Amino acid sequence: MRSFKILSRLLILLLAVLLTGCASRKDLSRLTDSKSKPAETRFEFTRPEMGMAFHLTFYASDSITASNAANAAFAHVRQLNAIFSDYEDDSELTRLSKTAGQGRAVPVSEDLWRVLSQAQGFSRRSNGAFDVTVGPMVQQWRRARRQRALPPPDQLAVARGSVGWRKLELDANHRTASLIAPGMRLDLGAIAKGYALDAALAVLRSSGFSRAFVTCGGDMAAGDPPPGRKGWRVELAPLDPTNVPPAQFVVLANAGLATSGDLFQRVILNGVRYSHIVDPRTGLGLTDHSLVVVIAPDAAAADALATTVSVLGPEEGLKLIEATPGAAARILRQPADRMETRTSRRLGEFLETRTDGKH
Ligand code: AMP
Ligand code: MG
Repeated sequence: MRSFKILSRLLILLLAVLLTGCASRKDLSRLTDSKSKPAETRFEFTRPEMGMAFHLTFYASDSITASNAANAAFAHVRQLNAIFSDYEDDSELTRLSKTAGQGRAVPVSEDLWRVLSQAQGFSRRSNGAFDVTVGPMVQQWRRARRQRALPPPDQLAVARGSVGWRKLELDANHRTASLIAPGMRLDLGAIAKGYALDAALAVLRSSGFSRAFVTCGGDMAAGDPPPGRKGWRVELAPLDPTNVPPAQFVVLANAGLATSGDLFQRVILNGVRYSHIVDPRTGLGLTDHSLVVVIAPDAAAADALATTVSVLGPEEGLKLIEATPGAAARILRQPADRMETRTSRRLGEFLETRTDGKH
């Protein structure tokens, strides 16, 4: 338990290190990279989006075009949040959830369609461990955290009746979604952030800035590498927190990375620690303490897979990662009082070698 506390502190520290480069600066900051050509200046921008600090780092030739591109990327993320948020009453997602049980096929926007179809793909591949219909269970979890009491069994049973990825029917020909059971509620908390990171990167790329790196919390999307580098260098939380450094770094180019676990959001009830990640089969938060890092070809996939692996556990989770082209994972778990580390075969391809250098 103690080592996990140290780990959580180190992780927070790591995130702080990752974020301070951006957070401490004004919106338009400019760092000249001594190794880059004059046309390639490094710019960093930070803004609160999706309830967290969203950071953009990219190389551009002048501050005005860089600033315009950053504004366009942030504006796009804001639009996506207005679609995906389950906190806002008038988001497209909330409006869709309100049609649950009405037997209606509801036309959805292109972005919502893409996220829902990707989500259903992960549900199918994980046999329902990943499930964006977990909304009613997540609501119960939030209430349990506020009231410091587990949901009573009858409420859990009601929630289970409104949860299940097969109860969300998508029609690709008409681009519609139907929520077939009453009381259903969609929750994109495990995939929307990754999707938004990819979308922000795409805006920067379409503005001509492909050497870009976008982060939000423990999730990130990397575009082309910084000038003269193989990729964007990211520090992973130390494997053994009682035996600090050597730190582990991964080098990312045109890939996403996401972190899932119960370090930041959890509730302790009757001495048991429940994660904010819910096992759709039980309706309860996970009690298996883990920290999962997934690298995938894009941030949406990394985000969804990190949550999925948390639910599946190391055996099934790593099988899924090995079967996903371009994916790699590291899983830290704490069964009883010891720390266990499991890694997928492909993780080595991303680990820094001495020639990769810093970004
Ligand atoms: P993440 O931090 O990416 O692992 O996502 C966790 C969030 O996803 C939670 O706060 C819930 O909103 C939602 N969620 C919880 N359990 C699941 C699940 N089994 N499948 C999909 N989304 C989930
Ligand atoms: Mg996730």
